[in-house]
Amino acid sequence: MADLQRLAIAPQQIDRQQVFLTVEQQHYLGRVLRLGVGDQFIVMDGKGKWWLAKLTPDISGKTELTAVLEQEISIQNELPIELILISALPKGNNFDEVVRQSTELGVTHILPVISSRTLLKPSPQKLKRWGKIANEAAEQSERQVVPKIRETVEYSAALSLFEHQNLSTKYHKYICVARNNYPLLLENLLDTESVESVVIATGPEGGWTNAEIEAAIATGFQAVSLGKRILRAVTAPLVALSLVTGVLERQKIYSNSDS
Ligand code: SAM
Repeated sequence: MADLQRLAIAPQQIDRQQVFLTVEQQHYLGRVLRLGVGDQFIVMDGKGKWWLAKLTPDISGKTELTAVLEQEISIQNELPIELILISALPKGNNFDEVVRQSTELGVTHILPVISSRTLLKPSPQKLKRWGKIANEAAEQSERQVVPKIRETVEYSAALSLFEHQNLSTKYHKYICVARNNYPLLLENLLDTESVESVVIATGPEGGWTNAEIEAAIATGFQAVSLGKRILRAVTAPLVALSLVTGVLERQKIYSNSDS
């Protein structure tokens, strides 16, 4: 099973036991992976379910290949908490790597934001591209869930989404700030006894403005450090998410742990 190819599809592509593959997916399975009729692969609906599937010819003749679901596969590789990344968009195509690697690390939601020092506004095609990258990364890292990537919004709009969640509801919100002597994110996480959601905010190449840091703190975020070195805007989210997943998996501090 481990060596079978995985394909993330949209849940609406499944009707009863049949999977309606897009032309792009047929091309990928048939031409790129060289799978043929009768070959098996794993279908992921991106919302938690996996199935063993088999390629079949499309008897309706509308497309070349279709697939049937043979059996559901039981798998659990997800962190049992929400892990949300708010990331000010870095330069160029650098956000592609943030999406890819944060998906590998287990993030459940990604909110790209435009902050005061963001240098670039993304083109409308970017969201589709990031969604494709997240699908591929979820397939590769054997996740059941493909993270949701929201439309890019202004930083203040992203903060307002979190103003009603506070620590007492096991919602832990952190803004990563370079240079100031804020407490380490790691120390905060190690002191945490129970958590349902973790929100991490990281800034752009030029960093957050003081006003942005203060606005986050006023919204219930804790300003934290990732250490004494200044990390690149693409490195900081990965370090922060690695710390969260490492501590969570080691200590099982999430409140719905079954252990
Ligand atoms: N230009 C800023 C400066 O000189 O202070 C540094 C910005 S840094 C390249 C980009 C973002 O990564 C920061 O806004 C912060 O969110 C995060 N970051 C980088 N290093 C960090 C650290 N050591 N601790 C906490 N956050 C860090």
